[in-house]
Amino acid sequence: MTQKLLSLVLSYIFIICPAFSQEIETDTLSKTKFVNKHPHDVAVINHENLQFESKPKNIILLIGDGMGVAQVFAGMSANGGELHIQNMKHIGFSKTQSSSAYVTDSGAGGTAIATGNKTYNGAIGVNPDTVPVHSILEIAEANGKATGLISTSAITHATPASFIAHQPSRYMMEEIAADFLKTDIDLFIGGGLQYFTKRTDGKNLVEELQKKNYQFVDTLSDLLNINHGKVTALLASEHLPPYSKRGEMLVPATEKAIELLSKDDDGFFLMVEGSQIDWGGHNNDLSYVTEEVLDFDRAVAIALEFAIKDKNTLVIVTADHETGGLALLNGNLSKGAVEGQFIHDYHTGEMVPVFAFGAGAEKFMGIYENTEIFDKMIRLFGF
Ligand code: MG
Ligand code: ZN
Repeated sequence: MTQKLLSLVLSYIFIICPAFSQEIETDTLSKTKFVNKHPHDVAVINHENLQFESKPKNIILLIGDGMGVAQVFAGMSANGGELHIQNMKHIGFSKTQSSSAYVTDSGAGGTAIATGNKTYNGAIGVNPDTVPVHSILEIAEANGKATGLISTSAITHATPASFIAHQPSRYMMEEIAADFLKTDIDLFIGGGLQYFTKRTDGKNLVEELQKKNYQFVDTLSDLLNINHGKVTALLASEHLPPYSKRGEMLVPATEKAIELLSKDDDGFFLMVEGSQIDWGGHNNDLSYVTEEVLDFDRAVAIALEFAIKDKNTLVIVTADHETGGLALLNGNLSKGAVEGQFIHDYHTGEMVPVFAFGAGAEKFMGIYENTEIFDKMIRLFGF
């Protein structure tokens, strides 16, 4: 009897109690329903007046991690039926399967887009035999272009890491951070400071980066004060917080990156990740997903605006996979409301959309493997 009572008390403390405190922190209703209090204006771009070069000098690749069609439409519904992404008229679908699984992770998904190689889940910039494979960023760098990465997660996290690092496992964060010093990347902005400064090997990679002429900043305002040169911006020890706490970071970081990289006469390659659309999916939290999609869409608008002025730029918006198996079950466009449910807390295997705009955008129509995104970018750059 006493034992039974004890186990009841213990189960209250360890199971019910933490669950209860979690419920207080997060509004349970908001996990299945989102109402947008701050819709953003979407100007419809008149494509008839636009002229682009047939091949781009610059590519801006924006990856919404975990952003399937339902996630895009959640954002669209919440924004009154319009997103900037809708101005991208050349649309295709990417098949996301990895070499090891029907359902990919962000390591294999990122590596496919970054290097054109199908690889095993968890791999970072290596093929199925763990042999390093060159990324579009490295190839662009070798051809004289300026390069940059932006992420709202740690910059060492799977998606951005796939463009610069070569490690057998996505969890080798310190090794991935060290790989940033083996390239000539011009600019990277995200979280993950601890993997550069609090390392088991005792090295301070920020000091090493500074010796390689990088300006180091750890706040957004300091980043926005930089007007030229190479930049390391590590704005959080691990990941940046969700949009609700992070506020405006992705949009000003994207603006600053384009401003700095576009000074290079040879052109540039920039990858911008909306990292946390995926985490909203893992958390089965529709409000989290939708706020991240809306933030990502505003970053897309910055890229489109530049491409219109520049005429020499290709903008690609895609995802590495869908997350959560989100289904939208109700909504109200005039109220910016959307309701939905998730089928589980991991990624799913279906195709994800690819939206393209600008120089060479028509090449992205159709259904193809995720690796073809790399192939198309390389062909368009002419390497
Ligand atoms: Mg990611
Ligand atoms: Zn994920």
